[in-house]
Amino acid sequence: MAYDPDNIFAKILRGEANAHVVLDEEHCFAFMDLMPQSPGHTLIIPREPAENIFDLSDEGLAHLTATTRRVARAVKTALNPAGLMIAQLNGVDAGQTVFHIHFHVIPRYAGEGLTFHARTMADADELAANAARIRAALAP
Ligand code: AMP
Repeated sequence: MAYDPDNIFAKILRGEANAHVVLDEEHCFAFMDLMPQSPGHTLIIPREPAENIFDLSDEGLAHLTATTRRVARAVKTALNPAGLMIAQLNGVDAGQTVFHIHFHVIPRYAGEGLTFHARTMADADELAANAARIRAALAP
């Protein structure tokens, strides 16, 4: 499948759709997942247009993984989860629903399960508050 420049993450990158932004840099961008699987679920994407891990350049992947680790550290600092899951899905059969490559950073809290993938919209105030806490943890 060819990359669709009108996918929702491409629109977010162009400023045509809103997001609770966590990080906005030359190579990568990060924002809160609108339908989080746990509080603090964050997405990290490259600016490079690529549908999945196989289409992304080596350089793009290096930036994306390094940025994902930085964001994961900030989520850990900001929200103090018991554990933290990092996921990346390739293709419909793997459960991918947005076809611009992204890493999921999903905090895990003691005794709490995950909600279903991409199912329930979170409260906007809660997303904004978590984004602010993660941004603060990313600040130099
Ligand atoms: P995947 O299924 O791996 O492609 O993940 C796509 C993720 O994007 C899901 O976790 C959705 O909840 C999330 N998502 C979909 N639309 C938006 C949006 N407009 N803003 C933020 N997250 C979104």
